[in-house]
Amino acid sequence: MRHPCLSCGACCAYFRIAFHWSETDPSLGGTVPAELTEKLDPHRVVMRGTQSKTPRCVALVGEIGVAAHCGIHPIKPSVCREVEPSWEFGRHSPQCDKGRIAHGLRPLTPDDWTDPPGLDQPSLPAGA
Ligand code: SF4
Ligand code: SF4
Repeated sequence: MRHPCLSCGACCAYFRIAFHWSETDPSLGGTVPAELTEKLDPHRVVMRGTQSKTPRCVALVGEIGVAAHCGIHPIKPSVCREVEPSWEFGRHSPQCDKGRIAHGLRPLTPDDWTDPPGLDQPSLPAGA
């Protein structure tokens, strides 16, 4: 099964991605590249591109709904790590559903986390 987020990316082009500035400061354990952020207020920064009327995070790579991924996945902000895809862990995710619906994608269902019948089953050799 291909992870549904890899053919989505919708939440990265819907929400304002705001978090504490210390996440961009390596001396404080921050990992997010500061040049990919901009100041929001004295305490917070945002991922560039996500304050726009048509938001799209600068770190998002690919085409939404087709093939997309986070270009800084291992070092992305804490708020991004907290977003759950709907039903990956057996529960609905309002953020995931909102992002997908806004981009014309249907919300995920539990079936999106199961392989089609037969995909994992060994097949008999041809002619057997
Ligand atoms: S909207 Fe949901 S499925 Fe799409 S990338 Fe975000 S968490 Fe993944
Ligand atoms: S940092 Fe990555 S996961 Fe977070 S909004 Fe940007 S592309 Fe999406």
